[in-house]
Amino acid sequence: MTRAVVILSAPSGGGKTTIAQRLLRERPADLGYSVSATTRPPRPGEQDGQAYHFLSRAEFERRRAAGEFLECAEYAGHLYGTLRSEVERVLNSGRHVVMDIEIEGARQVRAAYPWPRSISVFILPPSVDELLDRLRERRSESPADLAARLRRAVEEVGAAAEFDYRVVNDRLDDAVREIGAIIDGRRPRTGLRPVETQLIDALRRGLQT
Ligand code: ADP
Ligand code: 5GP
Repeated sequence: MTRAVVILSAPSGGGKTTIAQRLLRERPADLGYSVSATTRPPRPGEQDGQAYHFLSRAEFERRRAAGEFLECAEYAGHLYGTLRSEVERVLNSGRHVVMDIEIEGARQVRAAYPWPRSISVFILPPSVDELLDRLRERRSESPADLAARLRRAVEEVGAAAEFDYRVVNDRLDDAVREIGAIIDGRRPRTGLRPVETQLIDALRRGLQT
């Protein structure tokens, strides 16, 4: 069976890390994770080589110049990038490769691996209130960093239409099941549906205020 690059994007707090972890736990035989490199400092509990490869800016730049990244982008003051070696490691093991990346990187990966070699999924929160509650509960950012992430979220939600699929992360189990079905080719790839357009508009309006 052909293996694909599965791109998960979402505004900060949208649930991409949680969903990716659940999918990978449930399907270790056919999914593998592309561990990104970043210059951001580790959060409590994040292990080097598991959550990310944590690099200094100099080391990141050196690897970028050496052509080691499939894509990279700046986000909230830090560099993030997908290592070609990670993608190849997982694809060579015969599994789909799951990556959790922001929208600029998603564009670069889609250009390198056009559909259906890549399957891109934008995860939408059910509402702005719920997104803010989840971010507050996670308590991983300073108020300034949180504000930067929310400013960026307006643009990110506006890019949801570029993705092959959109999934609403209301109940976690449902979202995980839906993305599993997408990976297995059991969901048709449609354009933006009216309910999705309405939710995207409501999220953009809510995030702007
Ligand atoms: P992201 O990686 O997109 O920034 P996370 O996966 O860290 O988002 O999720 C943000 C927070 O919301 C986490 O604390 C997570 O446990 C919680 N969360 C994620 N999905 C759900 C859901 N469907 N229902 C309730 N809480 C959720
Ligand atoms: P966080 O700091 O919350 O872990 O991630 C911040 C943002 O960077 C998220 O949108 C996440 O998806 C994105 N990100 C993580 N790894 C990569 C990567 O390798 N490339 C790109 N372009 N974005 C990434």
